[in-house]
Amino acid sequence: MAEQSMRRKIRATELMNKIMSDYFYGLHEAATTGKRKVAWCTSVGPAELLRAMGFAVHFPENHGAMLGSTRMSTEFIPVANASGYSPDICSYLTADIGSWMKKITPLTKAYPGIDSVPKPDVLVYNTNQCRDVQDWFSWYSKELGVPAIGISSPKNVNEVTEGQIDDVTRQIEALIPTLEGITGNKLDMDRLRDTVALSKECSELWRKVLETAMASPSPLTFFDGTIQMGPAVCLRGTQEAIDYYKVLLAELEERIDAGVAAVEGESLRIYWEGMPVWGRLRQNSELFATLRTTVLASTYCSSWIFPSFDAKDPIRSMAKAYLELFIVRSDAYKEQYIKGMLEKYRIDGIIYHDAKTCPYNSNNRYGLPQRVEAATGIPSLVLSGDLNDLRCVSDEQTKTNIVAFVEQLQERK
Ligand code: SF4
Repeated sequence: MAEQSMRRKIRATELMNKIMSDYFYGLHEAATTGKRKVAWCTSVGPAELLRAMGFAVHFPENHGAMLGSTRMSTEFIPVANASGYSPDICSYLTADIGSWMKKITPLTKAYPGIDSVPKPDVLVYNTNQCRDVQDWFSWYSKELGVPAIGISSPKNVNEVTEGQIDDVTRQIEALIPTLEGITGNKLDMDRLRDTVALSKECSELWRKVLETAMASPSPLTFFDGTIQMGPAVCLRGTQEAIDYYKVLLAELEERIDAGVAAVEGESLRIYWEGMPVWGRLRQNSELFATLRTTVLASTYCSSWIFPSFDAKDPIRSMAKAYLELFIVRSDAYKEQYIKGMLEKYRIDGIIYHDAKTCPYNSNNRYGLPQRVEAATGIPSLVLSGDLNDLRCVSDEQTKTNIVAFVEQLQERK
């Protein structure tokens, strides 16, 4: 059987592409006409607040992922390296800053007429994920002369405490006067409540989408998920994202009812822990498909599920949701979380991606795989690589390791 026929395309993707296209053209219009102010936001920064205040919101990490998946990052990372940003730090950051320095963006090819990322009026970060985002936004702040403001988050959180939620709540509130100064309008709390309600609904639908992978065979792969998460990342807090996930969910449920697999002949179920290798999505997806193995659940895609959003208490619930993020948590919490996911999705093996430039999303470095394996008996494989810097990725090594791992799992079955 040909490789292509083993991986099924999702019909709804065409609609998603249209929604994402509207989003990017909307950002471009905001930035070029000045009709709306533009805010840049980190992936789990206070997007709900920005959207409720009328900002058009750009997510530089999404741009980083586009640079990775188009493999343009390979050209731009060395440009940022030459200006003093080490090859060892976040390769979203280096790819994105290098792309800005070269004045080239993958948006131009994807969306003709867009010649640049939208110029920001303000940069808003949350260090819940890593310190790199603050450094990244500080660079643009100096370059463009716009303010970089944000939240300094607690880290290594085991149980999220009321004190930590108080802290982040106060920090979100402290952003409001600066943002009001930029838009010239007061924050409308009702609008914030509505936006948080929309984010909550988007998050719930995204959870349901990902949970369709509990079915055997799974109608969805991790690789599909990394593409399908676009609206959850860039459009949470909007009706468009909700409408899209209803369509996608219906298609995946249809697949489950008909017994249709994302990977034909699924014989093994794998959990992916860590960042995707953006420049190798297709290659990895095809490799697993030929091995009749479905990588079907991941921490990464699940990170855009925020159960705590609550329209009745919008700012405090945002603070809680941003603190509950997997990347913010202690190793003890992460271990329990991963064990729960292995059981929920009936996983045969785990792949930990050790991303050279993202220690925060590489959970193989302090004995966690060994502890999880000892507790569950589920074998694991560590793949060395990177999210965007393909100089850190060995295709041969990756293939050899994956093939051997799948053989080991087959023998166990
Ligand atoms: S979490 Fe990792 S990939 Fe994401 S911005 Fe931070 S260093 Fe980069």
